Amino acid sequence: MPAIAPLPDHLINQIAAGEVVERPANALKELLENSLDAGAGEIAVELGGGGIRLMRVCDNGAGIAAAELPLALSRHATSKIRSLDDLERVGSLGFRGEGLASIAAVSRLTLTSRRASDAHAAQIRAEDGCISKVTAAAHPVGTTVEIAELFFNTPARRKFLKSEATEYAHCAAAAERLSLAYPEVAFALRHNGKNIFRHPPQSHAQRIAAVAGEDFAAAALAVDETAGDMHLHGMIAKPTFAKGKSDNQFLFVNRRFVRDKVMSHAVKQAYRDVLHQQFSPAYVLFLTLPPEMVDVNVHPTKTEVRFRDSQAVHQLIFHSLNKALAQTRAALTESVAA
Ligand code: ADP
Ligand code: MG
Repeated sequence: MPAIAPLPDHLINQIAAGEVVERPANALKELLENSLDAGAGEIAVELGGGGIRLMRVCDNGAGIAAAELPLALSRHATSKIRSLDDLERVGSLGFRGEGLASIAAVSRLTLTSRRASDAHAAQIRAEDGCISKVTAAAHPVGTTVEIAELFFNTPARRKFLKSEATEYAHCAAAAERLSLAYPEVAFALRHNGKNIFRHPPQSHAQRIAAVAGEDFAAAALAVDETAGDMHLHGMIAKPTFAKGKSDNQFLFVNRRFVRDKVMSHAVKQAYRDVLHQQFSPAYVLFLTLPPEMVDVNVHPTKTEVRFRDSQAVHQLIFHSLNKALAQTRAALTESVAA
């Protein structure tokens, strides 16, 4: 057995990056979450080559102090939590302090930022474990992160990437998902110089229509229910709108997109007697509950959650949807009886 030796920092970051950034869409999600946490009202994304060759996210959020730019790229450095107590009540999308460090370990990254109180912007670059000095730069208030050549130094990971079109589609889906939960924020996406979408600040209903489709929104049933500290709202498809595919299924917990078995099971149960098994209902549902009732620190990508009282969550979703679907159910019974 060779002697035990600590790994160099750069390698630690590359290993950790494997968990956080599997593909360009994960990097994009991290950057968008940072912009939203910084209170941005406007976020513009520019992708090139499916997000592999180029990814640039530009926001008008709070910005980062020039002196803190090196820390922003360091692992386990964050402005969002300070203690275990904060972690248990975390309200921000990020909190692990490893998004930028992970991306920087597997790309060529440039971070440019300026706060409202700064006379000018500052910039830092990272490439293959080397972090540059902070230099002066030109940039409006806010932050731009540019990533070039994702996985250029991790060829094994790069080999697992799918075609440019597929990686692009995952990026677009990630941006669309986040934009659903933040309708008050303007989102724009460009790919290879083409405008893909531009959502202005709008109402929840308008954003749902823009992302999930006008036809879905026009025919959807509204859900709006409260149970104790929990609130559920959103739109669900009438059974007649269901398709064979399971796209257009969006679940959010405290404005975070999640994949959750408890929640999707409750939805399925509610549709059970109005929808044939081979069809999947479309839905956009937002669950809001006190942060201490849900653990978001389950997985580095934070798309999994654990509820303190998953039965209560199941009940709220089942009953709310059941109620919304009641009318369709009544109509269905009548048509069968006739
Ligand atoms: P986390 O989001 O978990 O804190 P990150 O590595 O993603 O970790 O970011 C590190 C820190 O850099 C954040 O805590 C935040 O203070 C700062 N930061 C990153 N992106 C932005 C941004 N777009 N605007 C303002 N601050 C940012
Ligand atoms: Mg982050």
